[in-house]
Amino acid sequence: MASSSSSSSQPSFNFVYQPDGSESGWVEARTHCDHLASLSSDLTHIPTPNTPCNRCQHPSENWLCLCCKEVLCSRFVNKHMLEHFQQSKHCLALSYSDLSVWCFSCDAYLDAQVILSLRPAYETAYMLKFGQAPPVPADSRQ
Ligand SMILES: [Zn+2]
Ligand SMILES: [Zn+2]
Ligand SMILES: [Zn+2]
Repeated sequence: MASSSSSSSQPSFNFVYQPDGSESGWVEARTHCDHLASLSSDLTHIPTPNTPCNRCQHPSENWLCLCCKEVLCSRFVNKHMLEHFQQSKHCLALSYSDLSVWCFSCDAYLDAQVILSLRPAYETAYMLKFGQAPPVPADSRQ
């Protein structure tokens, strides 16, 4: 684990999309999180990215709870994912809008390509969203 400043030409999806639709650029994602024990044991079977929010039926840009696989809307809609975290303590969520993973307990984005236990969820969501497997970052292989 030397530097994280790899200048590979591969596309990445760590952009954050702001509620007004603009990109804020790169965000630093954590490569470690203490809350991964609560992850669902089967993240290769997840709802499709166009699944509406379980509670308010908001149709798009929802979050997937990586603990119980419930699909809930973002803090910019009706905050149902945030509410779910507060009620259930399920802190890990994957954004179906940009495939970033957020930990509510760490209050930070997590790097789903570096954290091995997050990779199945990231790869499955990528397949569902784009119809192809994500590019494998060569420098993160063990
Ligand atoms: Zn965490
Ligand atoms: Zn909702
Ligand atoms: Zn949950």
